[in-house]
Amino acid sequence: MAGGFVDLTEVPAEIAELDRTDPLAAMRERFILPTGVIYLDGHSLGALPRACSERSAQVVDREWGQSLIGGWNDCNWITLPSRVGGKIAKLIGAESDEVIATDSTSVNLFKLIVAAMGIRSVRKTIVTELDNFPTDSYLLDGVVSFCPDLKIKAVSAVDLFEAIDYSTGLVLLSHVHYKSGSMHDMEKITAHAHSRGALILWDLCHSTGAMKLGLNDASVDLAVGCGYKYLSGGPGAPAFLFVARRLQEELRSPLSGWMGHASPFTFERQFRSAPGVLRFLCGTPSVLGLSVLDSALDVLLAADMEHLTRKGRALGDLFIRLIVEGNHDLELASPRESTCRGNQVAIRHPQGYAIIQAMIAQSVIGDFRAPDVMRFGFAPLYVRYQDVWRAAQILFSVLEGKSWMGTNFSRRATVT
Ligand SMILES: *Cc1c(COP(=O)(O)O)cnc(C)c1O
Repeated sequence: MAGGFVDLTEVPAEIAELDRTDPLAAMRERFILPTGVIYLDGHSLGALPRACSERSAQVVDREWGQSLIGGWNDCNWITLPSRVGGKIAKLIGAESDEVIATDSTSVNLFKLIVAAMGIRSVRKTIVTELDNFPTDSYLLDGVVSFCPDLKIKAVSAVDLFEAIDYSTGLVLLSHVHYKSGSMHDMEKITAHAHSRGALILWDLCHSTGAMKLGLNDASVDLAVGCGYKYLSGGPGAPAFLFVARRLQEELRSPLSGWMGHASPFTFERQFRSAPGVLRFLCGTPSVLGLSVLDSALDVLLAADMEHLTRKGRALGDLFIRLIVEGNHDLELASPRESTCRGNQVAIRHPQGYAIIQAMIAQSVIGDFRAPDVMRFGFAPLYVRYQDVWRAAQILFSVLEGKSWMGTNFSRRATVT
């Protein structure tokens, strides 16, 4: 297809039919998207649900403005971490008393890594994947720098099973890889870790809200995840953590702040852990962030998770098929098989950054991860099949017209 000659108003009938029969089609109305923009970056920052703009005005003007300090009781702010956690629990196949929404993913990783190694103290090794998301690796390094008897064994995905042995205390893995989108078999790896007596901590940043998850079906021990990606909780939204009920009374949080105390408002001198997962709270909850995330979760919870999973895979499959048929010698960096992939498709190209910028100039928003990966994410609640088709046509026309060579497309912004 020659660049510039594609009539983007004319979506092929076959593609239009997919949108017409999409059981999730009506969900798109619940989001506010700028006109004409094709948003394929929901894996970095989820689009804005209408409900969030209403809720943020309500919580600022009415709750904070009118209730003032009384809001902690009258508006139930104090229970937001567990109420929001309870909603996330439904999305990840957990019980409501196993999840809290709090802090950032990075902070939650730190708390759970240290807590897990605390109860596996004779085992000194933490197994993780090479090329994991940087914050996960940095935090492991940070923990080890304070606990020098611990060791990190970072291996490639194919060597994981062998690396997990009787010296392993904890396995830390991203369920869906942030760059390639490839997805681990959660059930199989968890079972293997358990067979060697190790605990497992899954980072669910790129799978929560993107597909149906079954943490308790897989007997997962610990998990963390992000509030601002597929959950659409807004920039810097609070993250969440999951601790299986069977482990809760055994684990201690290294960040023993007063909100994780059994009785914060008796102001006791000695720390006593709150019962259950609440002990992993640290400081005062972010009420504005949690309230907005809470309203975003209602949107996701209104969707059928089977439909969501199926559509996420179908959108990725369609994009890959168009890329292959487009014959532009693009190097696919994601698995072809949709059951081994999250909701994003990665393509490798030496000029990836400039190509993404040239596409953004034509209102198709994807993103770039150094050194050479272009990422296109397909959030099933607001991305249509026709968006996938249009995005592929615009990618081809950028490649053919070499418009990525133009003006300032190579100049990198601070946040890519
Ligand atoms: C996005 C992401 C994070 C983000 O961590 P923050 O503390 O929210 O900055 C962590 N891990 C993975 C795998 C991610 O994709």
